[in-house]
Amino acid sequence: KGPDPDLVSIVERMATVKHKILVLSGKGGVGKSTFSAQLSFALAAMDFQVGLLDIDICGPSIPKMLGLEGQEIHQSNLGWSPVYVESNLGVMSIGFMLPHPDEAVIWRGPRKNGIIKQFLKDVYWGELDFLVVDAPPGTSDEHISIVQFLQATGIDGAIIVTTPQQVSLIDVRKEVSFCKKVGLQVLGVVENMSGLCQPLSDFRFMSVTETGEQKDMTQWVIEYMKEKAPEMLNLVAVSEVFDSSAGGGAKMCKDMGVPFLGKIPLDPQLCKAAEEGRSCFDDSKCRVSAPALKAIIEKL
Ligand code: ADP
Repeated sequence: KGPDPDLVSIVERMATVKHKILVLSGKGGVGKSTFSAQLSFALAAMDFQVGLLDIDICGPSIPKMLGLEGQEIHQSNLGWSPVYVESNLGVMSIGFMLPHPDEAVIWRGPRKNGIIKQFLKDVYWGELDFLVVDAPPGTSDEHISIVQFLQATGIDGAIIVTTPQQVSLIDVRKEVSFCKKVGLQVLGVVENMSGLCQPLSDFRFMSVTETGEQKDMTQWVIEYMKEKAPEMLNLVAVSEVFDSSAGGGAKMCKDMGVPFLGKIPLDPQLCKAAEEGRSCFDDSKCRVSAPALKAIIEKL
């Protein structure tokens, strides 16, 4: 029996891609796609040629997070063309193939594997410095096939995104042991939504009387701060939303012998940038999350 022809095509297609990074998470909703999107924006801003491949078939949020909702994929004689945010940032997602963004994709394993395979062998990326692959959450059949395909072409490793809660960290252990089992290097773990950050200048200050009457005191507080201690206006309030008494991601990484890349706070401005399909690095309001993300990317 000769080599799998699909695998041969994937290896040929990926020959023009220097680095491949898989972004994984144990659960949905922890910020895996947000991280993949912002990582791609950051690498593109560093003048690398970047591709972002979204294979989170059941929840393709990447088109929205890159500001590409409603766009369609085109075909050329070279293959499927990614949708471009900039000339050095191309995106491919099942989201571009759905007739309506609300459409649910209910596919079973083999069909999902089929489309993932097709994405890997039929998309014409051209020369890429980085291919960021946003995987579905968990460790299912899809993951095994993605890893197998990518390993045949040489993959740098995986970044695992988690939140600080214990339930999420337990899943990270599963992700790490999955990577170990399939021989995939863990580039590191990112702890997202770690502490809620809000610049004091974004707060609304309400006074509530005993009878429940509310009054907006924001203007008064701002004027007071301006007069008495203007540096207060630059303060950022941080509150721990999740219990991190067990030591969070850093401790878990130490226990499991994998690198801890850092923490990204829960930042309403980052959420806004992501929802609007923008890079947080171009947004002066992402005062807390953008430097945190930058520090993580620099460690890679
Ligand atoms: P996943 O890919 O893990 O399912 P998403 O990246 O889609 O998760 O994130 C879920 C939601 O949380 C999105 O609305 C996203 O904008 C928001 N989000 C993710 N990370 C942060 C953060 N650090 N601060 C604020 N909002 C965030």
